[in-house]
Amino acid sequence: MNIAPVYDPLRNHGPGCGLGHSPTYWAATAGQTPEDDGPLAGDAEVDIAIIGGGYTGLSCAYHLAHDHGIKATVLEANRAGWGCSGRNGGSVRPSIGKLPYQRIIRKWGLEMAHRIYGEAEKALATTRHLIAESPVDCKLVDGGVLKVAHRPSRLRGLESEARFLKDTFGFEAELLDAGAVKASYMDGPEIHGGIRYPDGFGVHPLRLAHGMLALSRDAGATVHTASPVTGWEKADGRHLLTTPGGRLRAHAVALATNGYTPERLHPGISKRLLPVLSHIVVTRPLTDEEVAACDYKTPIPVIDTRNINQYYRLLPDNRLLFGSRGAPNDSATSRTRQRTFLRGRLGNKFPPLRDIPIDFDWNGFVCLSLDWIPHIHQVEDDPTVHYALAYGGGGLAFSLHAGRRLAARLAGDPGDEPAIPTTTTPLPRFPFAAFRRIGQRAAIAYLQLLDNVG
Ligand SMILES: Cc1cc2nc3c(=O)[nH]c(=O)nc-3n(C[C@H](O)[C@H](O)[C@H](O)COP(=O)(O)OP(=O)(O)OC[C@H]3O[C@@H](n4cnc5c(N)ncnc54)[C@H](O)[C@@H]3O)c2cc1C
Repeated sequence: MNIAPVYDPLRNHGPGCGLGHSPTYWAATAGQTPEDDGPLAGDAEVDIAIIGGGYTGLSCAYHLAHDHGIKATVLEANRAGWGCSGRNGGSVRPSIGKLPYQRIIRKWGLEMAHRIYGEAEKALATTRHLIAESPVDCKLVDGGVLKVAHRPSRLRGLESEARFLKDTFGFEAELLDAGAVKASYMDGPEIHGGIRYPDGFGVHPLRLAHGMLALSRDAGATVHTASPVTGWEKADGRHLLTTPGGRLRAHAVALATNGYTPERLHPGISKRLLPVLSHIVVTRPLTDEEVAACDYKTPIPVIDTRNINQYYRLLPDNRLLFGSRGAPNDSATSRTRQRTFLRGRLGNKFPPLRDIPIDFDWNGFVCLSLDWIPHIHQVEDDPTVHYALAYGGGGLAFSLHAGRRLAARLAGDPGDEPAIPTTTTPLPRFPFAAFRRIGQRAAIAYLQLLDNVG
């Protein structure tokens, strides 16, 4: 049962102080946490403070130290990887937000689509590089990521996607008919062919966050955990960040709080983010008979063709991880409802597992912007406050890369940063921001309707 405290970034002051990890499968299997610098105690002064100790914040700290010789200080409310970074599905692909490339081309043209695609590929390269450098083995599972048609009619969409990727970007996705998916991957009533993206892979997300913690500290950064920023003032050109244990004065601040950003943390980003819950369940280990009954033969991450994706992967100890959207709001009741909902969906996909016990379930906040793309920018009226936020549901690789971009901006040396809307435009404000959740509910209902027809 998910016993993590309930948090609503749009209403509460902050995500807590020094909380333990959510009760995830990843936390249960992460092994030893590398050392951090403990809570901030007393007053200190630094050039650059980073708020948030997930992939974005830790990657920013690592790249500042490693590439630019700047030893920054990270302030993390709970512990390294406590947010999305330690509790995601661990499926890695190059993606920049949620906007499909066809819409990108309509909006900004083909040349811009190529630039954006190039940046997404660089994000994957950054991720692979960091994994190779990391002293913590994040249990990489190579072999691609599979997207499965959940209805026979959806295979046509996958065929045109594969054609589009080849013709536009020269990317070779492997198209698989229903027989090929059944022969090599899995079988079930929602398996009707698919495509495999050979560049994708799986990771243990919390071990990856632990690796980033070790890398950033080895490079010279300081990482204070149990240090939520509860107050933020500016005086004499310096930022003064208050935490329960002390105050940090800084010339510049990087915001790396993504879906956990408290609405009132800084006026420059309030009303510009929509935190959206995603929920995961993990079964008890499957028996050999259950694995055989589903013809399940692969450890690679899988997603389906729903607009509101369902994603799954077989873990090393034969448990099945299964995730999808979460409830609109976090509460004890909504968590129970969501767990039951996901268990039902898992049973629809794999009927032999209909009654299988769930050993772990948890949720986490992904983050959307109004225009569905992440933004690496600075707040309007203060060039010393930078942010990298709003990756949508697939931000693992891009958040690590955005940390690198953020570091380069803070160091005043943007290097090979491309001019794309993610880097050239600030986070847009939500119109009628007070009603963001109502809009979200309506969008989910509409997308679900589309998923159940055609
Ligand atoms: C259930 C789930 C499944 C997902 N699955 C995938 C997947 O399979 N593949 C993929 O690519 N992406 C996935 N994602 C998204 C991915 O995990 C995120 O895009 C990525 O981890 C974002 O990293 P981040 O460092 O920006 O934010 P986070 O990891 O969320 O870190 C933000 C940190 O900020 C801290 N914080 C907030 N406020 C304060 C404050 N006032 N003071 C100090 N610290 C503060 C929080 O404690 C938190 O640790 C998933 C997300 C979820 C929730």
